[in-house]
Amino acid sequence: MAISEFVQITRQSSVPEAEFYPIVNRMYETIWGQLMPPQIPTDHLSSKLANRVVTPAETPVPDCLTCGACCQSLLCVGVRPSDKVDSELYWEITTEAESGEMVVDRYLRRNGETLACIALSGTIGEQVGCTIYETRPIMCHHFDAGSDRCHAIRRAFSIEPFLSLNEMSAAMERLYSKEGTPDDEVKIKAAQITENAENGRRLIKAFLKDERLITIHEYDPAEETWLQFEFDGLKLGEAESLINSRVKQAKEQA
Ligand code: SF4
Ligand code: SF4
Repeated sequence: MAISEFVQITRQSSVPEAEFYPIVNRMYETIWGQLMPPQIPTDHLSSKLANRVVTPAETPVPDCLTCGACCQSLLCVGVRPSDKVDSELYWEITTEAESGEMVVDRYLRRNGETLACIALSGTIGEQVGCTIYETRPIMCHHFDAGSDRCHAIRRAFSIEPFLSLNEMSAAMERLYSKEGTPDDEVKIKAAQITENAENGRRLIKAFLKDERLITIHEYDPAEETWLQFEFDGLKLGEAESLINSRVKQAKEQA
C-alpha cells in the first residue's frame, strides 16, 4: 500500500465507501504480509470463548496486557450508535444518496505508522494498553481472549507456537464439520444500507451466505440509526431480534 494513500485518509473524518474498503484491503495485505500464515483462516473462527472448536478446553486464557495482537490486526473495529467513543477517534464511512451524503458505517481510526488501532498503546507481544478501555466499542467487548480467533492471531504474531500438522488437521476437521450445519446457511455475509429516493426511508439489505439478497428492514432515519457492520455474521433470526429491540428502544425514547 502506498503510505501516502493511507496518510491521506488519516486526515479525513469521513471517507466514502468506495475509497475506504480498497484501502482497508491493502492495509490487510500489508499487515498480514508481515505475519506468519494464520494456519486456519481467521474469518472461519469464532471470537467467543463459548464457541471454541479449535482450541482445547484446558488451554489457559492468555493475558491481553502482554499481547495486543487483535488490536493491531483486526482493521475494521466498528463503532455502534450506542458506543460512547469520541468522534475524533473514528471514521465515518459514507455513501451517496439522493438526499446527499449518508453515513453507513463507523470504524475506529488506525495509527498512521503501525496500522494498529488508534487507541492501542505499548508494544505488541510485550506490554500494551487500551487508552479508551472504559468506553471501548462493544465489538471489543465481544472479542474474547482465549477464543479460537484470539489464539490464531497470536500464532500469526509468533506470540504462541504453531499448531503441529496433526493438531491443525484435527482442528480443521472439527471446524468444517461444524460449519456445514444448516443454521450457517442463513448467516448474513454483509449488509448494505440504501435510500428509497421516493420517500427518504432507508432499506437494510442482507447478502446471505447462500448468495441471496433480501431486505430485512425499512426505517425512517429520523427515528432509527443503523450501521452496516452491525449485521456482519449474524444469523437472520439474530438480525431480527436486534432490529426488534432497537425499534422498541426508539419507540420508548420517542
Ligand atoms: S489476541 Fe487475544 S490475548 Fe491478544 S489482545 Fe486480543 S484477545 Fe487479548
Ligand atoms: S479500542 Fe482498545 S480494545 Fe478495542 S481495538 Fe482499540 S485498543 Fe483494542
